[in-house]
Order: sequence, then C-alpha cells, then structure tokens
Amino acid sequence: MSSVLIVGAGPVGAVCALALQQQGIAAQVLEAQPHDTRTDTRTLALSHGARLILDRLGVWDTLDAVTPITRIHISQRGALGVARLAAGDAGLPALGYVLPYAALTRALQHALTVSHIAVEYGVAVECIDAAADAATVHAADGRSLAASLVVVADGGRSGRTQSAATAPLPKFERDYEQTAVVCEVETELPHANRAFERFTPQGPAALLPKDDRYALVWTASHADAEHIAGLPDAEFLAALYRHFGGRQGRFLAASPRKTFPLKLAYTGSIAADRVVRIGNAAQTLHPVAGQGFNLGLRDAWELASLCGDTPREALGDAAMFTAYARGRRVDVIGGLGFTDFLVRVFSNDIGPLRHARGLGLLALEALPPLKNFVARRMIFGARG
Ligand SMILES: Cc1cc2nc3c(=O)[nH]c(=O)nc-3n(C[C@H](O)[C@H](O)[C@H](O)COP(=O)(O)OP(=O)(O)OC[C@H]3O[C@@H](n4cnc5c(N)ncnc54)[C@H](O)[C@@H]3O)c2cc1C
Repeated sequence: MSSVLIVGAGPVGAVCALALQQQGIAAQVLEAQPHDTRTDTRTLALSHGARLILDRLGVWDTLDAVTPITRIHISQRGALGVARLAAGDAGLPALGYVLPYAALTRALQHALTVSHIAVEYGVAVECIDAAADAATVHAADGRSLAASLVVVADGGRSGRTQSAATAPLPKFERDYEQTAVVCEVETELPHANRAFERFTPQGPAALLPKDDRYALVWTASHADAEHIAGLPDAEFLAALYRHFGGRQGRFLAASPRKTFPLKLAYTGSIAADRVVRIGNAAQTLHPVAGQGFNLGLRDAWELASLCGDTPREALGDAAMFTAYARGRRVDVIGGLGFTDFLVRVFSNDIGPLRHARGLGLLALEALPPLKNFVARRMIFGARG
C-alpha cells in the first residue's frame, strides 16, 4: 500500500508530488492524459508567492516563456478612477508572471521525471472507495490501488466520474452567468510589462503581457461571449478597441478565440475518510484576479508541509485533515471572497456603486498603505 496517491498531474498535483518528495515522502501519481500532449492554450498569471514555491522546488529556473508583470493598470469603463500598482512600490522585481499553462505543465512533468517520482500517464481514476484505514482508487485499466492518503487534484472533473462520497457537491456555488473569451492579441504599442484590468458592466477584461503580445481574458454574458468569439478577426479587433479603449493603440491581430464558462464553486478540502481535495478540485474561481492556480499551489505546498510534520502512521487521519482544513481556511476563504467581491461589485452599472468604485480606485491610487495592502494580497494571498 502506498502512503500517498495523487489523482491528477496537472500543475497542482505535480507541485504536491514534488513538495512531498522534499519532505521525504514518495507519492504515486495517476494522470488521465498521455505524457506531454497538452494542447491547453490557457494563460496563467502566477503571483510572486507562486514563484517562490516553484523556486524552492527547483522548477522556476527551468521555465521558459515567462513574462514578468511590473505594473498593473486598473480602471472601469465610463467612470472616474484609475489605480496603478507597481512592483517597485512593493519592493519586488515583479508583481506577477505570465506564462502558458502548457509550458508550466511541461516543466513540471520534466521535474517529476528527473526526480524519479512514480507517475503513470494515460491512467484515469474512475472512483475512490473511502474507508477509515485506507482509501482505494479504482483506475480505468482495472487496477485498484490503496493508500493511507489519496490527494484528489483532478481540477474538479471528478464530479462527473466519481461517487458522491469522494466527489461531494460544492458547499457553495455562484454562477456568474459569464463566459471568458480568451486569445492572444497584438497591439500597436509594446506592452512594456504592463498588465491592464478593466472593469465594465458586462464583466471584467484583462490584458496580460505575454512574450511580445498580450493574453486577453474578456468576460461577458454567455450569449455576448459566444457572439464576440465568433466574430471575424477585423470585427473582433474593432469590438475589442471599443470595449477596452486606446491605451495600447490599435489592436492589430488576434489568435483563434476560445471560451470558458465561469463560476465560483467551493467544495472544500475534506471529501471523505483518507481523501483530500486540493487546487481546482477544492475551489474553482473566476479568473478576474488570477487567484485560482496560485491558491491551488499554496494548497499543494501546505499539504505537503503538513504531511512532512505528521508521523507516517498518522498520514491521512482525521486529525491531520482537520489541521489542514484549519490551516487553509483564511487563505482560501479570503481568495474566494476577494474574487467574488471584485466580480459582483464591478460587474454592474448601478449609479451609486459606479461612483463608489471610482472613489475606491482613487483611494487605491492615492493611499500607499492601501496600495501595499492590495498588492500583498495579490502577491501572497489573504495572509500576505
Ligand atoms: C479562462 C481561465 C483563465 C485562468 N487564468 C488564471 C490565471 O491567470 N491565474 C491563475 O492562477 N489561475 C487561472 N485560472 C485557473 C487555473 O487554470 C486553475 O486554477 C489551474 O489550472 C488548476 O490546476 P489543477 O492542477 O487543480 O487542475 P487542472 O489544471 O485542471 O489539472 C487537473 C489534472 O487532473 C487530470 N485528471 C482529471 N481527471 C482525472 C482522473 N479521473 N484521473 C486521473 N487524472 C485526472 C487532468 O488530466 C489534469 O491533468 C484560469 C482558469 C480559466 C478557466
């Protein structure tokens, strides 16, 4: 019987396996997809705190295609108030880093291989039987594997494949009735490592510097997003200019558009005896504040640290789970609350709220301690 078995070698599962190894615990990992075939075009914005974790795992220096964000420009359409955050004000080289999801998973897969961590690719877990002394994972290839601790890091997909006991319904869900349109765009002016976050009544839009172009996340109602995503290039670029304004000059070119429906779902970490959920399996967030992966990465890091501090015979027991859930509560609820607040307060056109938001942005711009407070939360999470 393994001591720890991880379901999913996405970024969160992979970081968990690497961090466990640093604690002297050899985890076994099952990943549904074949090795190194990721075609996911998602872009991730990593916080400085996430960089520190990847540094400690020896992964950061192996990453290519990383673009630092040194400044963030926050505004709302059709109203006063602009706030500007700068890395220098926070005393850091960068406020965050932008990189392709596929580049991160490739680097993590390489790290798993050179660390001789047992990862089986192309093996999907179908269900998990939880019991007081061990959990048993049943794989699609017919094998059953028991472990003292099963870590579900499957990005929240298990709701469709696993039993209700190990894939519980979310404790809290909010459908924002929004879809994100994502693609890369080329602008007339160079990005100079500046990101934009623009709030509009239809939903937030973000431009993240990525290589020599921008990654765009444009949120709108489901119907509008499908319409926007389906526009021919020239019409799409013109619509984006109308929506975003001319701070970066004209939009010159766009890659093919993809859409992602957005919601908040909080399932929590404790699933069943011996089964813990981390990353998107525990919480799925709106991408407005770029917190999702950063939270998941801290889940993985904190779980591995706690495993290292727990006697082997107590790995995965109820006391360990309670300590883990208690330790993560402030960070996770803080991240969910911050993201939910931004989406709900900024995605509307109610007059008094629009003015209050303008004043909030002006205050953020004018008050260095407030700026520092917000920047630290974006960089290090709710406990920053
Ligand atoms: C449009 C969009 C933009 C985003 N932008 C950002 C951003 O800027 N910054 C940020 O921090 N976050 C962002 N996120 C969120 C981020 O993508 C997720 O938080 C992150 O990918 C979660 O990592 P994960 O490892 O938990 O899940 P995933 O990345 O989904 O990985 C799960 C892994 O588990 C495997 N798996 C699934 N089911 C099984 C099974 N049954 N058996 C075995 N393996 C299985 C999958 O193949 C996959 O490899 C964004 C999300 C979206 C939708």
